[in-house]
Amino acid sequence: MGGSELKYIKEAFDTNWISQFGNNIDHFENILEEYLGENSFVAALSSGTAAIHLALRLLNVEEGDFVICQSFTFVASVNPVLYLKAVPILVDSEPSTFNLCPNALEDAVKFCLQKGKKPKAIIAVSLYGMPFMVDEILEISRKYDIPLIEDSAEALGSKYNNQACGTFGDLSIISFNGNKIITTSGGGILISKSQITKNRTIYLATQAKENEDFYSHSELGYNYRISNISAGIGRGQMEVLEERIRARRENHVFYKELFESFDDLHLFSEPSAKFYSNYWLNVILIDGEYWDKKKMRSIFYENSIETRYLWKPMHLQVLYKDCIFFGSNISGAFFDRGLCLPSGSNITENCKERITRALYDYRN
Ligand SMILES: *Cc1c(COP(=O)(O)O)cnc(C)c1O
Repeated sequence: MGGSELKYIKEAFDTNWISQFGNNIDHFENILEEYLGENSFVAALSSGTAAIHLALRLLNVEEGDFVICQSFTFVASVNPVLYLKAVPILVDSEPSTFNLCPNALEDAVKFCLQKGKKPKAIIAVSLYGMPFMVDEILEISRKYDIPLIEDSAEALGSKYNNQACGTFGDLSIISFNGNKIITTSGGGILISKSQITKNRTIYLATQAKENEDFYSHSELGYNYRISNISAGIGRGQMEVLEERIRARRENHVFYKELFESFDDLHLFSEPSAKFYSNYWLNVILIDGEYWDKKKMRSIFYENSIETRYLWKPMHLQVLYKDCIFFGSNISGAFFDRGLCLPSGSNITENCKERITRALYDYRN
């Protein structure tokens, strides 16, 4: 935690606004709207998954509709498509950002059109904090007039062309789950381009209760609003966001220097000056004969250093095995060859020395 979170929680307790209304929610949304920049309308929700679910509802996704999704992601990006009994069409990644491949995306769009059914949405993800190829993906979204949902759950603070992630989609989402760069303990936001859409989001998130003096409902809603307590945590966390981004980007510089002397270990970095990543996680791809991912993981583990596998792409998951997939399994190769390295905002110099030592011990 950053320090001020308890103050805002106490405010909520002192004023007895501990539920889904209150000052913290209003402030948290305003702070984020200011942070994200012009024309961003933020609705605070109980999770990032809820935000994706509502984004699909706002786009009128219904049973049997096609929704195109990046395959290489955390399962929460795609599950809401199944909540609505729609059909996910999975698309591979390209190697420069790890994210949605524009060529495979266009193939998927053409396939859907040939089937006589225009996809209702494209879900593109900024995985590990790295923006996807925004210009190229937006071009396809506009060319075929298919709305873009930007899943920037992991990318608060990242930018593309100096514009904040969370502002590129027709609808965008950010998560404040415990594992993200900042957290509300659990929470998320849906970012839209109008006050009307924001209001409709909040309405759907509060059981679609209509403005009457009795309980009046003509649409299906959800219990997806954030609590005033969680929003208080979020207010406090926003005060330390810049500091967290700085620390994560410093971790990346450390890894960059470390891996310069290892030709067959490729650290995943910003492909050009257009991209600015919060480097939520640092990821390496392991090439060649010498390095073995499992062995490397166990050596780190013996030194009490945790590494993790990359997200396993959806087209390789049992849950999504019957989905149509476009691409050449580039993301599958990432999964086979990749490792996530310790990347928290609180990594000390001592930790960095231990990581360096473990790596050199393994090579020698
Ligand atoms: C965390 C995450 C989500 C879901 O967010 P929650 O707040 O945990 O529901 C969605 N997509 C991606 C890529 C994520 O990492």
